[in-house]
Amino acid sequence: MVFKEDDPKPYEPKAFIPVDLNENSVSSLIKNKPVLLETNTKRITLGYEYRRIEEGRSTKDREVGRKLREKDKKLDVRRKMAKLIVLEAYESRSAIILEDLSKRAPEHVVEDVKDEQLRSRIYRSAFSSMRRAIVEKAREFGVPVILVDPSHTSTVCPVHGTKIIYQPDGGDAPRVGVCERGERWHRDVVALYNLRKRVGDVSPVPFMSKESHDPPTVSRWLRVKSLHLIVIEDKMK
Ligand SMILES: [Zn+2]
Repeated sequence: MVFKEDDPKPYEPKAFIPVDLNENSVSSLIKNKPVLLETNTKRITLGYEYRRIEEGRSTKDREVGRKLREKDKKLDVRRKMAKLIVLEAYESRSAIILEDLSKRAPEHVVEDVKDEQLRSRIYRSAFSSMRRAIVEKAREFGVPVILVDPSHTSTVCPVHGTKIIYQPDGGDAPRVGVCERGERWHRDVVALYNLRKRVGDVSPVPFMSKESHDPPTVSRWLRVKSLHLIVIEDKMK
């Protein structure tokens, strides 16, 4: 990693925040509680002011405008997401754990897409820019970033060390698997605990939770001020 002269020196971490980047979401463990934030920008609807600007313009102008706004929105989402994660890490003097992408097989990431070229293109664009945003923001705050080997992070039970089996056809819960000892896991959540274990963090992993270690899915996170507030609000429900 290259440091700019005015960037603070990364601190010695007291804890770890694993971050798992997926095609349409970013998941993380905040105070030992999983949070899944939706990043699918197409689902973040545009506000009233955008529609008003569009009135009375030609179709071509509208198309160009739409593309520009989509790009802006994506950048906005990335920046906001990176800032939330980095601030959370900074305030708890934690290091951020990211998957070492050079070791991650693309087919596991976008497994629904059959076309190999398209798959690797989606893979590259969806993850590299999000990652870059997090790494850059972390550098600015002196938050250490640790890259770990992500292989098998979603297929090994972090409690028992046994294999997690997902239904081959996906079934009605394609992202939920069961370990050989009967523990149910959400794919994105299990990866988080395993990422954390790979840096030697021995924090206890909660087990046998009723909701298959399901994270609360937050689609309106763009408005929140901090990630631990999401966790607190979820507990109060
Ligand atoms: Zn297990």
